[in-house]
Amino acid sequence: MSDRRLAILKEMGLAPVWRLKRKTEAPATEESDWIRLEREVPACTACALHTSRTQTVLGVGDREADWLLVGEAPGAEEDRLGEPFVGQAGRLLDNMLAAIGLARGENVYIANVLKCRPPGNRNPEPGEVDRCTPFLLRQIALIQPKIIVAMGRFAAQTLLGSDATIASLRGRVHRYAGVPLVVTYHPAYLLRNLPDKAKAWSDLLLARRTVAGG
Ligand code: SF4
Repeated sequence: MSDRRLAILKEMGLAPVWRLKRKTEAPATEESDWIRLEREVPACTACALHTSRTQTVLGVGDREADWLLVGEAPGAEEDRLGEPFVGQAGRLLDNMLAAIGLARGENVYIANVLKCRPPGNRNPEPGEVDRCTPFLLRQIALIQPKIIVAMGRFAAQTLLGSDATIASLRGRVHRYAGVPLVVTYHPAYLLRNLPDKAKAWSDLLLARRTVAGG
């Protein structure tokens, strides 16, 4: 285990447990932690959302990325296709990434706080978030990103344990699980509020500066 991953796990209070689990749960097989996640998430029944999902949406992209983008939860298309940030909002996100020289799958990993779609795209409930967050923490520990970009009010408030507005959380670098975190608008919101695209652009530049300085 690298020093960076150990530091992240320590900050999350997972380090001893993680190491113990690795020792006790996968001694004979060389099963990777990613393979375990790929098996455990689709089988998860920890909250009621498992009853209405078409499929779980673990995440997509470069598993050794410097950039981890985190949204709220799968929508209808994501639930159908099994990939986060598809459709019009996904295309906008891809364009914004391209503008700073990034691409989905190349130094970028995209995930959501929740791995299952809330029915009717309602807001996630606190109990659902509590049960699902350990999966995201495991992804962070595996990816070891240099920056987390929280996209949208829900992701930002959940990851930062805050009920502050996006406007008040933007423009500075926070930390989550020991990793620098920048808050920006959700691409679906930007589709409806085009003037705020300039603010999202400045958020991405802040994130890029943070990666460059890290
Ligand atoms: Fe499990 Fe998360 Fe899906 Fe709930 S939302 S069933 S905790 S994977």
